[in-house]
Amino acid sequence: MARAIDYTYSWHEGYLECVYSDGRWGQTGSGGRLLVTRAADNTPMEEPEDRTGEEVVGWRAVCFETGDDADCWFGPTWTRVATKTEQNPAVLQIFSADDWLVGDHADTIMTAWLRHLVPHIGTPSVESAAAMATDAQFRLTLAVLDARDKGASWAKIGAAVGISRQSAHERWANYRD
Ligand SMILES: [Zn+2]
Repeated sequence: MARAIDYTYSWHEGYLECVYSDGRWGQTGSGGRLLVTRAADNTPMEEPEDRTGEEVVGWRAVCFETGDDADCWFGPTWTRVATKTEQNPAVLQIFSADDWLVGDHADTIMTAWLRHLVPHIGTPSVESAAAMATDAQFRLTLAVLDARDKGASWAKIGAAVGISRQSAHERWANYRD
């Protein structure tokens, strides 16, 4: 899912997972299948199980640390409620007709994953973080121009940035051509 790309910081890969009534959980497998890959106590299951969308009773954010190749963090479970009027993010209750969350709902639940990065990143002021973001944008543009000077393709640059060849071209081609 795109979530794995959207929620990646350094070695930390955030995932939005479906939770089932028996406490087991897991993410979508190939072809959009709903797979249970973890037991309620978070241990990996030897034989992943298929589930149906109606069996999804909640969702949670988790983090896998790819550098250590190990679990990093497990977020709280959000309960799936039956109607929109029952929805209450303050007590981790969310309504979704779709079994797989996208967009705003996904962002809401993944906020906890963002917060789990605080011990790793720290919490700069908005002013200082904005200055760092501006600086990083300049560095990125300069790095892309340098890579192009050295003959790198837009596909290679896009892959390095984590975007498509076309997106990389649209974003930086005007600096060159
Ligand atoms: Zn993490």
